[in-house]
Amino acid sequence: MQEETKYIQQLEKRGIRPTALRLLILKTIAGYRQAFSLSDLEEQLDTVDKSTLFRTLNLFHRQHLIHSIDDGSGSIKYSVCSPDCNCSLQDLHVHFACYRCQRTFCMENIAIPQVKLPPGFSLSSVNFVLKGLCDACSGNTVR
Ligand SMILES: [Zn+2]
Ligand SMILES: [Zn+2]
Repeated sequence: MQEETKYIQQLEKRGIRPTALRLLILKTIAGYRQAFSLSDLEEQLDTVDKSTLFRTLNLFHRQHLIHSIDDGSGSIKYSVCSPDCNCSLQDLHVHFACYRCQRTFCMENIAIPQVKLPPGFSLSSVNFVLKGLCDACSGNTVR
C-alpha cells in the first residue's frame, strides 16, 4: 500500500494523472534493473493493449518520467528517470550496453563528459553509450 502511494506521487509529480493502468506500468518498469524496450514491456504485460502501452510510454517520456536511450540495438530503450531529473543536458548520464546479454544500463553516477564545440555549434542532445561486458557477464572472468 505504501509502495502504491509512492508510485502515485511519482506520477503526480510529473503531472500525470495516476490511473490503475499507469500505476501498473510504472510499477513494472520501476522494477527493471536495466533499460527496457516497448517490446519488453509488451511481452511482460501481455494483457494490456499494445497501443495503450505505446501511448503510455510516450506520455511518460514527454513528462520526463522516463528517458530514452538509443543503444544502437535498433530499438529505442527507456529507463525511469531519477526523481530530480528534468532530462536537461545537465541531467544526462552515460549508458552501458552489454554485448553479451544485450542489456543496457543507466550509469546514473557518471555524467556525460563535457565537449567543447567549435563556434556556431550548439548542443541539444547527447547519446553516450559505452559498450562492453556488464558486471554479471564479466563476473566469471574478473580476478
Ligand atoms: Zn551482460
Ligand atoms: Zn539512463
